[in-house]
Amino acid sequence: PYDVLVVGGGPAGASAAIYAARKGIRTGIVADRFGGQVNDTLGIENFISVKYTEGPKLAASLEEHTKEYGIEIMKAQRAKRLEKKDLVEVELENGAVLKSKTVIISTGARWRNLGVPGEAEFKNKGVAYCPHCDGPLFAGKHVAVVGGGNSGIEAAIDLAGVAEHVTVLEFMPELKADSVLQDRLNSLPNTTVIKNAQVKEITGTNKVDGVTYIERESGETKHIDLQGVFVQIGLVPNTDWLADTLERTRMGEIVVDSHGATSIPGVFAAGDCTNSPYKQIIISMGSGATAALGAFDYMIRNQ
Ligand code: FAD
Repeated sequence: PYDVLVVGGGPAGASAAIYAARKGIRTGIVADRFGGQVNDTLGIENFISVKYTEGPKLAASLEEHTKEYGIEIMKAQRAKRLEKKDLVEVELENGAVLKSKTVIISTGARWRNLGVPGEAEFKNKGVAYCPHCDGPLFAGKHVAVVGGGNSGIEAAIDLAGVAEHVTVLEFMPELKADSVLQDRLNSLPNTTVIKNAQVKEITGTNKVDGVTYIERESGETKHIDLQGVFVQIGLVPNTDWLADTLERTRMGEIVVDSHGATSIPGVFAAGDCTNSPYKQIIISMGSGATAALGAFDYMIRNQ
């Protein structure tokens, strides 16, 4: 069996695998797509000590660094079931069952898409999902935030500090965000909130030039000229495969303690699939390191 088996090969998984392998213990990593969400990112400017890099380049470095340590890398494989027996068993979609003393889950998350024309075409060309990452690219521009929940309103407040104007588009007749956030947003001079708005299309030629929506009350179609659209309708953790084997939040995020431990002894988790409040590369890497050290501590106490 493995000492540490990491499931997921994004920043959290790569960091966890390297930290584990550096203890001289048998480490494996299973990843559907090595690099994870980083593969879909264009410019990265907040990976501290690296002024600028690009997603595919960082993904390649993650893999290269992981290969330095004799870690068994199983790529293009998906886990579909986890079960705690004497050891922890992870079953893959191809039927193989991997056994390990400890498991670190780092299967990440994905942004929920609007699914309207223009969204996929203009990804990284005006369509964005992460205000912490891409906000500064829209300095002095007019942007929309789609979604009036907490993350949408937080994004709008954040973007109002750099953008010329921020328009929030909410499908429902009311915003769902906490009232303190709504009050803060309403106190800003360069923001507009449009409720009851169903986004139909993100328009543009080479890059975004506007958004078209239906005013649901009147049924009228409206268009706004702008340069950016932040989609904030939810981040979905890739944890369905765990069903109720371990404790997850209402949103499906794995609940971890300060050592990265989950509700199953010997099973740890890190990164965007957990209830960590902020989802960023540097944060995922930190939590991957924490989970690996947590797993190592667990192992030396339970052998
Ligand atoms: P992920 O990167 O999601 O990796 C998950 C891994 O698990 C992948 O290898 C995946 O294939 C694998 N996996 C999933 N399910 C299974 C399964 N069942 N079995 C096996 N493997 C599985 N953050 C920043 O700090 N700066 C930025 O500039 C930035 N820009 C971003 C731009 C975009 C477009 C996006 C989408 C995200 C951006 N982020 C940015 C966020 C950052 O990418 C994530 O916070 C980070 O990648 C999370 O790392 P992770 O390892 O937890 O998960």
